[in-house]
Amino acid sequence: MSVTNRLPEHVFIIGAGIAGLSCAEALQAHGVANEIFEKRAVVGGRVNTKSHSDWRCDDGAQYFTAKDPAFLRATTKWLQQGIIALWEPRLSVIEGDPVSIRAKPSANNKRYVGVPSMGALPHCLAAGHKLHLNSTIDQLRRTQLGWQAHSKERGWSENHAQALVLALPPAQSLMLLQDTPGSISSKLATFSMRPTWALMLRMPDNFDPGFDAAFVNVGPLRWLAKDSSKPGRAPNNIWLAHASGQWSELNIERSVDEVGKILNAEFESLTGGAALEAALHLWRNADTENAADNGCFWDAGMSLGVCGDWLAQGRVEGAWKSGYELANKMCFISTTESLDVEFSEVEFATQAYCDALELRESVLRKPLGRSLDIDDLEGEDKQFHFAYFNKRGEVVATISAKDLGEKVIKLRQMAVHEAFRGKGIGAMLLQKVETVFKAKGFKFSQLHARKKAQGFYQKNGYQRVGDVFQEVGVAHLKMTKKIS
Ligand SMILES: Cc1cc2nc3c(=O)[nH]c(=O)nc-3n(C[C@H](O)[C@H](O)[C@H](O)COP(=O)(O)OP(=O)(O)OC[C@H]3O[C@@H](n4cnc5c(N)ncnc54)[C@H](O)[C@@H]3O)c2cc1C
Repeated sequence: MSVTNRLPEHVFIIGAGIAGLSCAEALQAHGVANEIFEKRAVVGGRVNTKSHSDWRCDDGAQYFTAKDPAFLRATTKWLQQGIIALWEPRLSVIEGDPVSIRAKPSANNKRYVGVPSMGALPHCLAAGHKLHLNSTIDQLRRTQLGWQAHSKERGWSENHAQALVLALPPAQSLMLLQDTPGSISSKLATFSMRPTWALMLRMPDNFDPGFDAAFVNVGPLRWLAKDSSKPGRAPNNIWLAHASGQWSELNIERSVDEVGKILNAEFESLTGGAALEAALHLWRNADTENAADNGCFWDAGMSLGVCGDWLAQGRVEGAWKSGYELANKMCFISTTESLDVEFSEVEFATQAYCDALELRESVLRKPLGRSLDIDDLEGEDKQFHFAYFNKRGEVVATISAKDLGEKVIKLRQMAVHEAFRGKGIGAMLLQKVETVFKAKGFKFSQLHARKKAQGFYQKNGYQRVGDVFQEVGVAHLKMTKKIS
């Protein structure tokens, strides 16, 4: 069988928010060239820092948290690079009638911020990518040569791309896809976004309400933060106040002057401080009321993908994950097509099961001078078995899985035929079985990885647990991944 790599050679990404940038980075890691089109003069979208006369303030995302293993790895890298830092504000909650302020324990939540501003993170992520700023994409077309994008400012793109990614809020994606056939558009119409008014304030040097950040549960405001208490900021007294989604929606058509007066007065009444200078910004698409957890949409027939925070539970982490997952999906699916293999569950004691055993024997045991033994096969009649088959029906990759109880599935005996290594089939197999077990209600996937394969499993979201141990005479590690 001839195996050719049919990854898209070139991808257009519309939108340089965190989702678009993480997609670009992951595509680049797969060796796929991309160009990013962004309507604004800066990257970052809702991760933004506004500059004023001689001060600046993060007016969109305030900080982010990290739970997903892949995002945690990215966060650790950014920390090491000094692009972000931990922010440990004195936190309070403001609530009640009469209004009271109480300190809020931080509940071990690590809050990360860009350094020296939130805008620094997207700025660093965008470095090294081909960017078209001030390019508002208002039309798309697909010719025999591939996708083209039309911007208000520059007209049609000179290049064509084999695949297109929309990393925009849902309404903008829908607008661009209105003349495009395919199933994605119908899925977008169900999402709606809420606005947020953001008030930025320069306060007198001696202003200190006794907290650096507060969740507000009364009146129009929902969040207050001393921007200048974040690491790496200038030593002035800059504050940010966000209005609630509900209040912002009700007051979206009011003038900046009117809204500024109301929110300034509210800030003053909650904190006792009057601003020396203030500025206001309206985020029309701040957050999604009904954010999904699909991760992303990919239509392989149209070579069209959609990502964004609204497809992955919102927030910076969701946006990053959505772009990352889309890039991986595009590459894995293309790889499956190019490899021409088919995934299937395998029943115990069938011919396919025996073929899978043969592959396991030759890949996992023979190189160690061993054979599969009774211990290896014990209980396999109650376990799950899967394989990728080539066109001739031969098993080219296999994996088994054992239910450990308490919603934990243990993956075992993964083997990939020599001719199929280095082509992404191992990652595809993991992704497929994780999807199968997620659908069956499992929450965690666990495995014993050979130590030299630790990097592969880490790349696929697994985390090491505990010390190295010996199994079949080889150093192993226990690794786990949350799959739901
Ligand atoms: C007020 C506010 C507070 C927030 N607070 C937090 C927080 O504390 N923690 C947290 O984790 N998250 C927070 N978020 C959410 C977080 O900012 C978002 O989840 C995340 O940044 C979304 O990234 P994205 O790439 O999906 O979308 P976006 O950031 O919206 O990126 C979309 C990009 O597409 C561009 N674009 C749009 N239309 C076009 C077009 N036609 N052509 C070209 N480009 C186009 C936009 O300019 C933008 O750059 C907050 C958001 C707001 C607004």
